[in-house]
Amino acid sequence: MAEFDVDLFVIGGGSGGVRAARIAAGHGARVMVAEEYRMGGTCVIRGCVPKKLFVLGSHVHFEIADAAGFGWTIPSATFDWRTLVANKDKEIARLEGIYTTNVEKSGAHIVKTRAVFEDPHTLRLATGEALTAKHILIATGSAPNHGQMIPGIEHVISSNEVFHLEELPKRIVIQGGGYIALEFACIFAGFGSDVTVIYRGDNILRGFDEDVRLHVRAEMEREGITVLTGCTVSKVDRHGNEFTSHLTNGSSIASDKVMFAIGRHPNVANLGLEKAGVAINPRNGGIAVDNFSRSSVPHIYAIGDVTHRINLTPVAIREGHAFADTVFGKRPVEVDHATIPTAVFSQPEIGTVGLTEAEARAQFSRVDIYKTDFRPIKSTMSGRDTRILMKLVVDGTTDRVVGCHIVGDTAAEIVQAVAIAVKMKATKADFDATFALHPTAAEELVTMRTPTARYIREAAE
Ligand code: FAD
Repeated sequence: MAEFDVDLFVIGGGSGGVRAARIAAGHGARVMVAEEYRMGGTCVIRGCVPKKLFVLGSHVHFEIADAAGFGWTIPSATFDWRTLVANKDKEIARLEGIYTTNVEKSGAHIVKTRAVFEDPHTLRLATGEALTAKHILIATGSAPNHGQMIPGIEHVISSNEVFHLEELPKRIVIQGGGYIALEFACIFAGFGSDVTVIYRGDNILRGFDEDVRLHVRAEMEREGITVLTGCTVSKVDRHGNEFTSHLTNGSSIASDKVMFAIGRHPNVANLGLEKAGVAINPRNGGIAVDNFSRSSVPHIYAIGDVTHRINLTPVAIREGHAFADTVFGKRPVEVDHATIPTAVFSQPEIGTVGLTEAEARAQFSRVDIYKTDFRPIKSTMSGRDTRILMKLVVDGTTDRVVGCHIVGDTAAEIVQAVAIAVKMKATKADFDATFALHPTAAEELVTMRTPTARYIREAAE
């Protein structure tokens, strides 16, 4: 008789949990995965994937508007929100099926229920059953935060609900200045909604390069999105199907929906962590782990958003894979969290990798900046008033390109490729030695010859 029911119990069938389960099963472990909602987790069910489908749908309005300059006459276009939502639901159900099949094919067993700790080796399922596991992986992800319990908070939706709205809101107020808030602001604006973004700081996209923040805000405002900074929503009133958001600056805004996207918290509540002795990281509220994703209890690990390190799908997947190789593949793997490319699917979109100008200037004594912003070739014919931003941040001492920031159509696609060069520690000379690919927007990355700014910090006496 085996000492434990399974070798590995994974709590959470999202990006990280699924990868870990499949790889561990491939290494020969007896694996069980518990998922309380839908297989695939946040990214597949109510995150990256449906969001990107909405972005693609919304972006079509630009294509329609741009067509006239190229000679097309398109009869007045109409948009049907319910068709979009129904088709998105179909695609998400298809992906959920693939995730389920892939886990099962690997030999791991899925239980569609909530699981919580009963003691360090025992999980209690919502069905009442108890199971013992030699190793446990906590991959429970994160959930939207609504912040302070302001009056009327019950009228406010989050990114969980936004994917299932019955109607396209004609007017929407979105509180938040991060990527989820801005992506939805642009999605709704593209479908014709009147959008107001409310953010408490002095500019949106905290943590991004300053030039990117300014550029994106200007582009969004040009598209008719109202961005109000330095204030927050203090109260929401409902009158039938209409809402009034009262702001801390004394003004108020009427809308058909109010959405908050002001952050996410790791799913650690009511998991029975105290019964297992698993410690929380006091700095971020996530599960405290070491570089191998091992928690304070040696046979319990945690990966992905629940550790609140870098909350992105490829990171959760990499951490899940590394965990499975380390524990079941006899190959200890640490995840290198440096230089992770990220995108914001605002319209125009942002692609970024490496350091911002401010971070580089804090880190290096010599920093060269190469920056350009220009009208894309398509706009010369479409007449659309938009500009692309490209920026390289270079360590002036070693000539290494330490940051690349792009705002414009397909920025994310471009930056995925640039990230290889940045990760390989390519120098500006390597970029310059690369032939331009003409005519593209990305060719600017290898044709910017003269720094637009150079910062030299004198050594302290
Ligand atoms: P999750 O994918 O959240 O999976 C956790 C799973 O655990 C969930 O399915 C949950 O139901 C289940 N669960 C929780 N508790 C229990 C329990 N006790 N028992 C059983 N099951 C449980 N990332 C990107 O890289 N690119 C993007 O473009 C992007 N867009 C996003 C857009 C939105 C709107 C959101 C919300 C997120 C987005 N993300 C994006 C982030 C990405 O979705 C997460 O980083 C990723 O899903 C984290 O994976 P995970 O495995 O840690 O958790």
